[in-house]
Amino acid sequence: MHICKIKHVHSVATTADARRLLLARPGQTGILAGGTSTIFSHKKELDTLVDLRPLQLNQIKTEEGGLCIGSMTCLTDLVFADTVKDYADGILSRAAHRTGTTLNRNLCTLGGLLVHPYIWPETATAALALNAEFHIYRGTEEQVDAATFYEQAPAKSLPCGDIVTDISFPSQPASRRFAFEKYASTHNEFAWLTLAVGATLESGILHEVVIVAGAATPLPRRLTEAEACLEGQTLTQPLILETAARAAETMQVGRDIRCSEQYKRDLCAGMLRGILEETFSTPTTGK
Ligand SMILES: Cc1cc2nc3c(=O)[nH]c(=O)nc-3n(C[C@H](O)[C@H](O)[C@H](O)COP(=O)(O)OP(=O)(O)OC[C@H]3O[C@@H](n4cnc5c(N)ncnc54)[C@H](O)[C@@H]3O)c2cc1C
Repeated sequence: MHICKIKHVHSVATTADARRLLLARPGQTGILAGGTSTIFSHKKELDTLVDLRPLQLNQIKTEEGGLCIGSMTCLTDLVFADTVKDYADGILSRAAHRTGTTLNRNLCTLGGLLVHPYIWPETATAALALNAEFHIYRGTEEQVDAATFYEQAPAKSLPCGDIVTDISFPSQPASRRFAFEKYASTHNEFAWLTLAVGATLESGILHEVVIVAGAATPLPRRLTEAEACLEGQTLTQPLILETAARAAETMQVGRDIRCSEQYKRDLCAGMLRGILEETFSTPTTGK
């Protein structure tokens, strides 16, 4: 039986106060964001939480054509905000909507999901495809791009005391298109596979192609060899089939008790083929 050992919850006025409390008792004091994974924490020493809610990090701002989203913004707000729906063909809003249940989405924060992505990370997959930047308070504010952040386990990218305050999503040119797909046997089930794809389409030629797979390995990963198949090319049916096969062949796949490795590769090929046919083969309609 799980017994919650939390005895104290601190309310703080500034990020500096939060950092000071976290550093004063490393391992014993943790961050409370939405609380949906902290509550199940098996860390024996953890008995105190620092509640980030008073810091008002739950704003969604448009910034130079992109978005700057406070780390404490809950997923439900991402699902319904028009600015998020209108950004990058709505893939961030869609990734949020495909995460967990309504109850989870009311509690889970964008920061909590990106920092603690587990193996089925819808929003982290989208964040990597969108080239998001993490604004991290470490005494001073630093910015780390999603590609660097997910090179290693987030616990290593974010030592004790570091607090993600905002996540910014850059402006996307009108000629850039995005797609996001999650496969699961029900709407709420943890993903078997998620794919987020972005590419600029100019005069029928694809540039700056990004294909990210989530739920295949513990962290989202770009499928660089499949991206290379499309770079500088005009999309044709043979090229779609070749790219889908390359993605399936080169994607790293970890163990999943629900299906075989080959099944996940077949899923990848089928999902990517569908995305390329539906989103990248049709004439552009603008943002
Ligand atoms: C029933 C259920 C279903 C779920 N389904 C899904 C799903 O479909 N897809 C999916 O991806 N996840 C799913 N999850 C996992 C859920 O996403 C995690 O519980 C979530 O990542 C935690 O977010 P939170 O805001 O509740 O963070 P918390 O639980 O409060 O914190 C989680 C961790 O992140 C750290 N943290 C949080 N915010 C910050 C910050 N701003 N700066 C630095 N560190 C921070 C905390 O220190 C803590 O270690 C599910 C969970 C449950 C319970």
